[in-house]
Amino acid sequence: EISLKKLSEQFTDTHLNKHPEKKLKDVISCLIENIAPHAVNVASPYFIGHMTSAIPFFMVHLKTIVSALNQNVVKLETSKVVSVIEKQVLAKIHRLIYSNTDMFYQDHVQNTVSSLGVFTEGGTTANLSALWVARNQLLKPIPGFEGVEIDGIAKAYAAHGLDECFILVSKRGHYSLRKAAGVLGIGNKHVIPIDVNLKHQIELTHLMNTINEIKRNPRKAIIAVIGIAGTTETGSVDPLRQIGEICHQHHIYFHVDAAWGGPTLMSEKYRHLLDGISLADSVTIDCHKQFYMPMSCGMVYFKDPYFMNAIEYHSNYVNRMGSVDLGIKSLAGSREAHSLILDCAIKIMGTKGYALLIDYGIELAKKFAQEIEKRKYFRLITSPELNILTYQVCPESLQLALLNTTVEEKKQINATINELNRSVQRIQRESGKSFVSRTVLTAHRFQDGFVDDVVVLRCVLMNPMTTITIINDILNEQEAIFHQLQHERTDPCTLVKEN
Ligand SMILES: *Cc1c(COP(=O)(O)O)cnc(C)c1O
Repeated sequence: EISLKKLSEQFTDTHLNKHPEKKLKDVISCLIENIAPHAVNVASPYFIGHMTSAIPFFMVHLKTIVSALNQNVVKLETSKVVSVIEKQVLAKIHRLIYSNTDMFYQDHVQNTVSSLGVFTEGGTTANLSALWVARNQLLKPIPGFEGVEIDGIAKAYAAHGLDECFILVSKRGHYSLRKAAGVLGIGNKHVIPIDVNLKHQIELTHLMNTINEIKRNPRKAIIAVIGIAGTTETGSVDPLRQIGEICHQHHIYFHVDAAWGGPTLMSEKYRHLLDGISLADSVTIDCHKQFYMPMSCGMVYFKDPYFMNAIEYHSNYVNRMGSVDLGIKSLAGSREAHSLILDCAIKIMGTKGYALLIDYGIELAKKFAQEIEKRKYFRLITSPELNILTYQVCPESLQLALLNTTVEEKKQINATINELNRSVQRIQRESGKSFVSRTVLTAHRFQDGFVDDVVVLRCVLMNPMTTITIINDILNEQEAIFHQLQHERTDPCTLVKEN
């Protein structure tokens, strides 16, 4: 094992070589022998910490072919059939989300004026694209004002008589939403974090109170409310139907960030978890997550096929009016034909194939949670709704100590537990066999009303080769690290005394 510091010392040459240095075969050997061993083995079934995992090997072939074709879907002239395939696959996923009529899809599948969605480079730009549309809808043209896209944000606020605009999302919202607010000139402090309940879903009363409070001030407006279908940290799904109804009632744009959980719609067994998603004005889904595609690809879908006209751009040499040029309504200019990979992958897997993977992950996460509940050195923090769970290394003695004591002492004990989990996660990662990730759940609410920031170990179960046996190995290793830490402690921490 070589440290990152040592590695970085090997890569300090800042000169471009003038003459060829190596043949292709040498470059490839170097990649295989010297680079790959120091990359992260995300395909290992012991690597269960992130949303990046093993991909089916056929994806590599598909990616190679797409690269070889080198189509550029920014315009028809450099992609031809690929542009119409993209429109077709967009319609297929749109149908998965919105289940509109056959007539609707016949009208729009190859319509050159409307768009059902767009491929992006990931969830971040998918969310940005959705909020771009939402912003332009709110700050729309009115007499004397040509719209925010043309006149800019200062004039937009003046014309609409506004001082501030807001985006509402739960505390567990992805940080890409704050980036989007920054880029769109809304200001990221205007992304308001709404409280979550014990299941880490948005607190509806807090949401409604916040909406009402903003609405009381005529100089404030809401650009969008966002529901999360699978939060990045805990996998929790917000009550989408209720949020959708609240938005409908208040005429607010409703976006669903289903970057993680979107593909759950393919599972007959679990699609009900995303009930209400069809009320969304737009939906983000990542392809490089649960569509198991190679890095990096995302998508955003719009309920109304004309919404994307709010972000339409033309130019004289490409993207001419009325053409099929997909670049007319996309943040990206030149881009790869990712739609071909998704189209082929769906043909190979079928929705049933994907559902097998998704169901397996959800059910394995449940077994994982049961295993944690059985063990006395662990405590479950968030039980899995989808295939993500968080927990802590936390001996029973500390769990008990936390129960009946003052808030001050609880904070202290919690800090000890947080430190312990930081150490366990780091030591396990450094020893190189297994990997779970670590996050801080800010303002985590415990059953007994105690609220604090908690450091948790986070697992994402998406690799079908990960089994409950492997999970037990990982937990055993964590338990061993805990005992080792206890043993090594020089200053005997009174709190972590074992019974
Ligand atoms: C991963 C994720 C994103 C960001 O997606 P990228 O592909 O990393 O840009 C946004 N929202 C949620 C809920 C996610 O899980």
